[in-house]
Amino acid sequence: MRCPVLSCRDCGAVQTRPSVAGYDLLLCAECDCQLERRTGRSLAAALALSATTLALLIPANFLPFLSTSVLGSPRQSYLVSGVTVMWRQEWPLLAIAVALFLIVLPFVRFGLLTVVLVLVQRETSPAWLGRVFRWSNGLQIWAMADVFLLGLLVAYERLAATVHTTLGIGAYCFIAAAIATLLTRATLDTDEIWERIRPSDDSCDLDGVVTCGACEMVMRHPEPGCLCPRCGARISRRIPDAISASIALTVAGMLLYIPANLYAIARIPIGFTPTSYTILGGVIELVDAHLFGLAALVFVASFAIPFFKLVGLAWCIASVLRRSTFALSAKTKTYRVVEEIGRWSMVDPFVVACFVPVTQYNAAFTSSAEPAATYFTAVVVLTMLAAQVFDPRLMWDAAKQKQRRLP
Ligand SMILES: [Zn+2]
Ligand SMILES: [Zn+2]
Repeated sequence: MRCPVLSCRDCGAVQTRPSVAGYDLLLCAECDCQLERRTGRSLAAALALSATTLALLIPANFLPFLSTSVLGSPRQSYLVSGVTVMWRQEWPLLAIAVALFLIVLPFVRFGLLTVVLVLVQRETSPAWLGRVFRWSNGLQIWAMADVFLLGLLVAYERLAATVHTTLGIGAYCFIAAAIATLLTRATLDTDEIWERIRPSDDSCDLDGVVTCGACEMVMRHPEPGCLCPRCGARISRRIPDAISASIALTVAGMLLYIPANLYAIARIPIGFTPTSYTILGGVIELVDAHLFGLAALVFVASFAIPFFKLVGLAWCIASVLRRSTFALSAKTKTYRVVEEIGRWSMVDPFVVACFVPVTQYNAAFTSSAEPAATYFTAVVVLTMLAAQVFDPRLMWDAAKQKQRRLP
């Protein structure tokens, strides 16, 4: 049985769960956002898909990924080759970020998730299981196999326009793994797993309710700073220092957004001429090459999404500072969109990671990352962190405070 009390992640409203069984979608009584969705969820399907992802990541990492051929001279890459070439070309921060998002974190995320799902299916729940599931959930946005698919698509189209390019078995395994990660997420019933790890109580008392930010376990009048008995996260009514931390990260993101757009992001051979391009310059090159779909994709992922994230975060932070009561639902939805789409702007750095290992032929046909690639990756990471440390419930708290003060 699921806990009869729940608290909205978006507005903080504490409410009781409807007693009817078998509903598919539950909306918040105060802000109308989605509290829970059950359609299409299945523990068995999530386990099969998570294990499949993990199994596919092994050949994806160890079998040939991309190969090109210029005048009968071939070059072949593995998934890790982009990281090693960028490291050798002295872009260490970029190389580390790509290695983490593409190689290390997908393995860790799906390794941990598979362990949790196997144990939950077997109905065994060791004391560390909640902690492990919390870590696995926390890594979900940072394991970017799905985002890399778009990077691979753009890189392949650009390479194939100039030289003979083929995808290796590793690339096909990676594409399958990336699709399996998306399906795993769609079928994973997080609430059900938490209930199986440690069931909530069945009290309907709404007094003094504080929910765990990680697993949504309901507690009543918890000691300040205590740890969640289910997942080990520190319990607080709202995320501590949410405003100062999100302001610092958003401002840093805004400052780095300028060099990320002014400097070149990469140098690649276009028609056998090494060409440095900025983010918007790359979009124009794609339009000139009549690759209109890719141009739209890169424009949205690399220019529009980061801009929208910075403006959206600033709007939400300003709402708390000004205790605004205006359009709270719209701001909350904007925040959720910012949180969700942030990772999809890593496409351009991933294109560079695909390109560099298979284009090292000679001075005329070579490619490398350029300064903006590091600035741009930093913008993506900073805005993702800013969205994670921001607490949308503060907007609703601030608006209520203002309303209480009005006569
Ligand atoms: Zn709500
Ligand atoms: Zn918890």
